[in-house]
Amino acid sequence: MSLTFNDFIEEIRQRADIVDLVSDYVKLELKGKNYVGLCPFHNEKTPSFTVSRDKKLYYCFGCGAGGDIFNFLMEIENLPFFEAAKVLAERYGVPIPQKKPNRTRRKSDEIRDQLFEIHEWAAKFYQYLLLEHKLGKNALKYFEKRGFTRATIEKFRLGYAPRAWTALFHFLKKKGYPDYLLEKSGLVLPGKQKNGYYDRFRDRAIFTIFNLRGQPIGFGGRVMEPDQNPKYLNSPETPIFLKNQNLYGFNFAMDQIRKTGQAIIVEGYTDVITAHQYGIENVVASLGTSLTENQARLLARYAEEVYIAYDADTAGQKATLRGLDILKNTGLIVKVIELPDELDPDELIRKNGAEAFKSLLEDAISFIDFKLNKILKQYDLDSPDGKVQAVQELLPMFLNIDNAIEKDYLIKQIVKRVEISEQALKEELEHFIKEKSKIKDRNDKNWHTSKETRKVISDDFEAKFINAILRIPQMIGKIFEEITPDFFQNSDYRLIMQQIYLCYQQVRESGDFSLLTTNNLVENFSDNDLKKKVLELLFYYQDYEVTEKFIVEGLTKLKEYQMTMEMETILKKLKQIKNHGNLVDLNQILIRYHRLLHYGMERGGING
Ligand SMILES: [Zn+2]
Repeated sequence: MSLTFNDFIEEIRQRADIVDLVSDYVKLELKGKNYVGLCPFHNEKTPSFTVSRDKKLYYCFGCGAGGDIFNFLMEIENLPFFEAAKVLAERYGVPIPQKKPNRTRRKSDEIRDQLFEIHEWAAKFYQYLLLEHKLGKNALKYFEKRGFTRATIEKFRLGYAPRAWTALFHFLKKKGYPDYLLEKSGLVLPGKQKNGYYDRFRDRAIFTIFNLRGQPIGFGGRVMEPDQNPKYLNSPETPIFLKNQNLYGFNFAMDQIRKTGQAIIVEGYTDVITAHQYGIENVVASLGTSLTENQARLLARYAEEVYIAYDADTAGQKATLRGLDILKNTGLIVKVIELPDELDPDELIRKNGAEAFKSLLEDAISFIDFKLNKILKQYDLDSPDGKVQAVQELLPMFLNIDNAIEKDYLIKQIVKRVEISEQALKEELEHFIKEKSKIKDRNDKNWHTSKETRKVISDDFEAKFINAILRIPQMIGKIFEEITPDFFQNSDYRLIMQQIYLCYQQVRESGDFSLLTTNNLVENFSDNDLKKKVLELLFYYQDYEVTEKFIVEGLTKLKEYQMTMEMETILKKLKQIKNHGNLVDLNQILIRYHRLLHYGMERGGING
């Protein structure tokens, strides 16, 4: 009986010795439970390259290279997966399947590849209808009214999703994809009465969303009549589409951003497309209203300077303020473009041309000035009261500024514009900072009384918890019965938990729980940055003893924290209702409250 491809790969994994293999390339020394040596993937003088024989994984603390035997051989010999497998099979005496298997990939890679294919077909389907079919006439007019040229429409792969309920579904079925995969793509939804599937996007102008390599990974659908709702509909998150890691248009903007060191963030798809059509090619949009830390980090890899050009309406301004802090925290220089006359970038460029938009870049104001303007506008600076209130609101800005020159600049600006003496301001500032640290001290002792230290679930705890999950994967089922990835506060760890959850779901669907191994969990990460993070967590805490007890207690801690947060929201809601709420709200809140209380008593008190 010849082996299936999966068995073949598993057999190699079982028989191969990663220490033996790596030793061909790296001089390894035993240190504790692991072997260490000089990393073959980056230049170093002290060894940070670590190999674990029982985990069958390697990781470099210096450059983050890591993976299993297959990754090692692929990377060091520059081989594709199947070739690496053959080399290993020969070396460790595993018979190579006679027939070249039709599957030469891992299951998780295969699903992702098929999802890419499905999106590629869907993009073709939507664009065909837009450009070649009479059904797409209205949508084509819609795009042409926005001034998009044929070349632009083709480059951005714009399209039209027809009104019919199952047009795309039937098209993709004819291409031979199984229902479960189509559902996974998020492009079709199961019918309410379990009678088949229907298309997510119907009668909408379609914007294709790409990954960094320019492959379609999702879509945005916009209504063409002003009274239809919702105005925008987007693909859900899928294994190939993680919203908070993507920026719309980044694949087209990447080169220019790298070249100029500058990026411009706008709000909408059409802002990006128009800018690019007019030759301003370092423009991207955040998918959704507010920028995430991951998006900021993506930008920081290519740019030093980021301009925000959001709409002048209140929602846009709020988003600008939030975006400022997130971008600032990644070390980027952040500036705000102030758009004149309530125009968005799309309208402005079409009306006044690319040069007009570019000249706004020169007038862009700094992070500090933008906040300063926002706050000062709200107060009457001619009255002493107004001055006091304005200064009180400005003081917290100093907490976010590390740079001495910026601090000095802010002081000078406040002195000038509020018209107070520098000495008075400095005294206020000193007092403010002293009070802050007093509050912080008090709260460190008694966390649940304040907002400052509400983050009792530390990054360190979450990291250790993930480390434990990776090392005792048999516990995963129990873990996801009790918590969801959202229980994690650190956004990277939340993403890692989401990925672990996806892997767990796949295993559960396959019914083969023996696939739930440390090795498979790590290999399931297709995003390289996340995979490095996971390997880091796994190896960093390797000497930390993990037990089932730690996981069980950790679960309780995570749940109790979640409950405390929920309780706070409920109390806040109750206060609001007391002021101006209705009885229906009150009733719902009370139900939530009782449920929580009941849970708390079972656990022996809410703060345990
Ligand atoms: Zn290295």
